[in-house]
Amino acid sequence: MLRARSITKSFGNLTVLKGVDLEVKTAEIVSIVGSSGAGKSTLLHILGTLDRPDGGEIFFGTTRVDRLRTKALAHFRNRHIGFVFQFHHLLPEFSALENVCIPGWLAGKRKKEVEGRALELLGTLGLSDRTDSKPHTLSGGEQQRVAVARALINQPAVVFADEPTGNLDSVHARELHALFLQLRDQFRQTFVIVTHNEELAQMSDRIVHMKDGVVLS
Ligand code: ADP
Ligand code: MG
Repeated sequence: MLRARSITKSFGNLTVLKGVDLEVKTAEIVSIVGSSGAGKSTLLHILGTLDRPDGGEIFFGTTRVDRLRTKALAHFRNRHIGFVFQFHHLLPEFSALENVCIPGWLAGKRKKEVEGRALELLGTLGLSDRTDSKPHTLSGGEQQRVAVARALINQPAVVFADEPTGNLDSVHARELHALFLQLRDQFRQTFVIVTHNEELAQMSDRIVHMKDGVVLS
């Protein structure tokens, strides 16, 4: 599904990624762990096409993305990649349902079709009775689940999550990871997750250790 080879990245004099190789299979959940500053977020942003590497190559299936022009890259990202961040970044003035729908509408899909899938996802995530709620009226765990539904609306090839449980208590964190496993089993959804949470990392299919800009295992 995803294949990255010899990824390098520097910010000024600071070399943050020193030749990272990573392969992720369909329906696999890979956790990236490592100390602060190891380059995890930088790698996730580059794999998720939010940032470009200085060197190396990134393939999603047979599509090489690191050489795509900006517009084509944005198009690819909107259609094939989902993101979940530590802070959910839901739009406060829109309902849960609208927040989930927005990336689908932006991708130019039919309004009704997007809404149908959003309702289905919110149902799967246990939020059927909160579809009309504004984000601030939802609990932290509910907000994060809305963010997960939003990440899934365009049926992305891969969902990238950067510390998705960093802002949740241990109960909600466990729930969110259980949800990732459910989505893997139900939709063959692929996840690449940066996490500090050892317990959650253990629940994934594979753990990748990063240190000082390289992958250790
Ligand atoms: P991690 O997520 O593993 O904590 P990051 O990928 O966020 O690590 O950061 C790795 C290193 O790169 C850090 O030293 C950080 O300060 C630096 N860094 C990250 N992004 C930038 C940026 N946009 N400009 C300059 N330095 C950056
Ligand atoms: Mg980080």
